[in-house]
Amino acid sequence: MAGLSVVLGTGRKAVIPQPTFTLYKLLSSVFQANTVPVPVNASDFTFNVEMLEAEAKDADVTVICSPNNPTGTLLPADALERILKTTCGLVFLDEAYHEFSGQTALTLLPANPNLIVLRTFSKAMSMAGLRFGYLMAHPEIAREIHKAKLPYNVNVFTLAAAELVLERRNVMRDAIQTLISERQRVVAEVRKRPGVEAFDSCANFFLIRTAKVARELFDALYAQGVLVRDVSSYPMLDRVLRVSVGNPQENDRFLSALDKALEIS
Ligand SMILES: *Cc1c(COP(=O)(O)O)cnc(C)c1O
Repeated sequence: MAGLSVVLGTGRKAVIPQPTFTLYKLLSSVFQANTVPVPVNASDFTFNVEMLEAEAKDADVTVICSPNNPTGTLLPADALERILKTTCGLVFLDEAYHEFSGQTALTLLPANPNLIVLRTFSKAMSMAGLRFGYLMAHPEIAREIHKAKLPYNVNVFTLAAAELVLERRNVMRDAIQTLISERQRVVAEVRKRPGVEAFDSCANFFLIRTAKVARELFDALYAQGVLVRDVSSYPMLDRVLRVSVGNPQENDRFLSALDKALEIS
């Protein structure tokens, strides 16, 4: 938020893929910037790299979530590098789900002073209640953003907890690996069902699409105690639901609830 407040304002151009995490378009509007949405590819929800590159050229800010929420798609590293080289502005890369993707843009930081990488403790660390995140950027950029940071924006308990989690981050490794292999398994299982599409994802969730109205499928799953996210009101995501990957037992419950909801079994 502090990062965007430094660069966005009236007359500034902000390039943001659609659909994505809704906060960024909202912030861009609040700061009265000119938001340019770049729709993802309709067939598989991957980023439209050519259009992103073209629009980013004269943009003040380009904000990309990779993996993206809610699509789970990654921005290919070579595409990111091209955008960083050809844009005249800053690139905010939101890596909220990077632990599930095996990819990070960290290594691009030294050579690209216009790159800002955003991270959070809310996802792989399972600590959304901590309200803690951080950014990594060139020292000059970090210094400017720091000026816009609100005083005492992180409390001392949160800092102590965050430090402890960082020291013991290996504890998370097994859980993250299990989640990744479960994601692969569940997506493959869903694809065996007739009439259900499952989309490739690099996050801890994936998208499914059926012939049913999303709300009907949502309700049929919910009635069986399975909560998914209805993302069908996002641009391009008609009839699409976002399914979070859980532990193996939860995932099996989801699969059988899906069968019942679709009246396959
Ligand atoms: C969840 C999420 C965040 C961070 O959320 P906080 O809990 O506010 O740290 C950032 N970006 C994306 C894309 C997310 O999905």
